[in-house]
Amino acid sequence: MARYVTSSRQNRYRSIQVLVLAAAVFITACGIAGTQRPGKAGSSTEAPKYVFYFIGDGMGVAQVKLADAVLDDGETLEMISFPVSGMAATQAENRYITGSAAAGTALATGHKTTIGTIAKSSDHSTDFTSVAEMAREKGMRVGIVSNVSIDHATPACFYAHADSRKMYPEIAVQMASSGFDYFGGGYAFGDLDDGKPLGKLVEVMKDSGYTVIQGREALSKAVSGRKYWVFGSYDGSGALDYAIDRDDGSLTLADFTKHGIRLLENDRGFFMMVEGGKIDWACHANDAATVAHEVVDFDGAIEQALEFYRRHPDETLIVVTADHECGGLALGYADKAYESDIGILRYQKLSAQDFTAKVSQWVERKNVTFPMALDSASVYFGLGNIQLDSALALSPEEKKALRDAYAESMNADNGGQAYGKGDPLTVMLVTLLNHKAGVGWTTGAHTAVPVPVFAIGNGAHEFCGVYDNTDVAKKIIDIARLSEER
Ligand SMILES: [Zn+2]
Repeated sequence: MARYVTSSRQNRYRSIQVLVLAAAVFITACGIAGTQRPGKAGSSTEAPKYVFYFIGDGMGVAQVKLADAVLDDGETLEMISFPVSGMAATQAENRYITGSAAAGTALATGHKTTIGTIAKSSDHSTDFTSVAEMAREKGMRVGIVSNVSIDHATPACFYAHADSRKMYPEIAVQMASSGFDYFGGGYAFGDLDDGKPLGKLVEVMKDSGYTVIQGREALSKAVSGRKYWVFGSYDGSGALDYAIDRDDGSLTLADFTKHGIRLLENDRGFFMMVEGGKIDWACHANDAATVAHEVVDFDGAIEQALEFYRRHPDETLIVVTADHECGGLALGYADKAYESDIGILRYQKLSAQDFTAKVSQWVERKNVTFPMALDSASVYFGLGNIQLDSALALSPEEKKALRDAYAESMNADNGGQAYGKGDPLTVMLVTLLNHKAGVGWTTGAHTAVPVPVFAIGNGAHEFCGVYDNTDVAKKIIDIARLSEER
């Protein structure tokens, strides 16, 4: 098939051919089945009746790709099978590297604001209306789901307005006045000034017509047409466990999404926001295996929406994105240059957070020697177990680094206490496994790299291209015709 180009005229022709081909590929990637734009008002084409908005907190492109490492061979994430993808910039109004409140405001309302502000203007004089509030105004049912506490910044941006994300009681109480139909996932410790952090918020929710329930059985018995606040088993921060640590039988983000669909489905449609909130937390801890499991878990919730979409392809829009990247995750590490063994992340069996809790117990009991700690490194991280994979071998220098970290951890002043900075032994174990896998991190904070956007369904092709995070909300408002003004 080789055909040699011999003249400049042929060269130009060839260039045009390439351009046309590239355009065709572009259009195909962004305009295949299941992505058609609804007609503008007045046309016969309907706007999507069911809108899903998935937000992976801290989920950059590298986090998505990393998740492949823990999937079985041949499996891929649902989100990357979507026919349309785009990219969104995340800068806040007053800072290049954003935070979840400012980014959540942009994604929820289509407006930039300052760091820490929840769905308000930067001078805090104006409340910005969220897509969820617009959907409720339109008569759609509304659901808000997150695996972190339900008064956390990202979910809050959809139902509350506050000068600061830290105003937890003020935020939590706005769940009750939102009129939304379904809050699912984590708990909220809204201490509403009566000294009973749990009691009063539940009472306020009940007084506002909400049925407040916990656990799988109660959720499975919940009936359509009632308003619910449902939570799973939560930790001291109100969040569900990391997927990598979760007990079988605990409610998952996928469960809350599946039941949300069941409870919200009705003739006037629904809007549901689902946040994978702990991807970010694991990224802050630079804990790659836990990040991978969180992304897979988040994708499991997306799978529930996709099943619904397959039953209602013309009436459903699913948008998946992130508020920002976290950790500066790189799929490549200097010491390994072009080598990678990302699959060895599978041998990590618990989060850095859970391992830190173990180390805290060792410190208390004073009964774990360094050889025993090395055994744990093998059991929970695969480190040193070359039967599993030769990439897991520990060099004498690495063993020494572990011994030093162990000694530091066993010092009661350090051991397992300062998770913010990281328990020394846990940090060393996670760092060694990450580096052997060929994974690097640049920071324990967020970064400013753009985030991916994946879309499928009615209006999805609008999400093709490169744009601002405020545009994601504007596109949803436009496509689903949530506002008269647009
Ligand atoms: Zn964060």
